[in-house]
Amino acid sequence: MTAITPQSGIMDIKLYQSGASGAEGQSNVLKLSSNENLAGPSPEAIDAYSRAGRGLNIYPPTDQIALRTAIGEVHDLDPERIICGVGSDEIITFLCQAYAGIGDEVLFTEHGFSMYRISALAAGATPVEVAERDRVVDIDAIVAGCTDKTRLVFIANPANPTSTMISVAQMSELAERLPPHVILVLDGAYAEFVDGYDGGASIVEARENVVMTRTFSKLYGLGGLRVGWGYAPQAIIDVLNRVRGPFNLSVPALAAAEAAVRDQTYADKCRADNARWRTWLAEALAALGVPSDTSLANFILARFATKVEANACDDFLKTQGILVRRVGGYGLPNCLRITIGDEAACKRVAHAVAQFKEDGETG
Ligand SMILES: *Cc1c(COP(=O)(O)O)cnc(C)c1O
Repeated sequence: MTAITPQSGIMDIKLYQSGASGAEGQSNVLKLSSNENLAGPSPEAIDAYSRAGRGLNIYPPTDQIALRTAIGEVHDLDPERIICGVGSDEIITFLCQAYAGIGDEVLFTEHGFSMYRISALAAGATPVEVAERDRVVDIDAIVAGCTDKTRLVFIANPANPTSTMISVAQMSELAERLPPHVILVLDGAYAEFVDGYDGGASIVEARENVVMTRTFSKLYGLGGLRVGWGYAPQAIIDVLNRVRGPFNLSVPALAAAEAAVRDQTYADKCRADNARWRTWLAEALAALGVPSDTSLANFILARFATKVEANACDDFLKTQGILVRRVGGYGLPNCLRITIGDEAACKRVAHAVAQFKEDGETG
């Protein structure tokens, strides 16, 4: 026995499972396991990143004003109420650290993103999971799950790994029905993929109890750089800025993200390509007997008859150099989450699943 022990809750954290990135003996690996943008970031972002290399001797600005202004201009938001973080994961961490501690509850739904649980435990709080309805967030269950101890409610919209979404009207209704001591966090990691959707920004503006988180890791193709942001009422921003490290984002990260958000031509193209090939792949797999819910994100959740079949298909895809995500850890053991790539990637997936199905039928 050692006298040195971590804070309560820390040892209950199960390490985050990231998407597989290599396949044994495969050279032409297609990585569709982490919802990355296979087309990469905007060329403008890459240029900005390279140019920033010359200034690496200088600390980054602590106010992050250039990036916040760019985000504000593009999304028509008040830069004063934006906070930037090392991925939106860091914004989630700040929220838990600032608002939830020992004895407090952090609520999310049964197939909710795994970082909510990890960040709640890291803050010493108690994670609480409530049911979804057919893989869709259920606002009645969330309201019913709130207690005096609830401090934060996290929902992703569209959600990962389910790909489903609730309406803005439902999000508003949920915000309205939560007890006054609860903050609703709308995780908009996939908001950019939904045409005309503001990620819940209008709800943040109308209320005191709602925060929106966003990321450069998905549509903007900057997952390797680690940049995300949050939009919140001023009082909450003032709290989060106290726990944010003054230099949390590096000079190249700030520069590349600013260039990326300003290149909406590139973002529009990525959004349109994703929508096109997402529909194509969903239909191709459905025709093979592998349905999925209508996705609003950059992945589909392919549903197999059983866990055994899902795992067998995953194993087969690996032999073809295709990496997708098992989601048994999310309570979806008969599903595989597949990121939408370009035309060639989607065709390769459909072809491989067809082969898997054929092999299953013949032998
Ligand atoms: C990918 C993802 C994030 C965060 O990603 P960052 O890279 O930390 O910005 C947050 N929420 C959900 C639901 C995600 O899928």
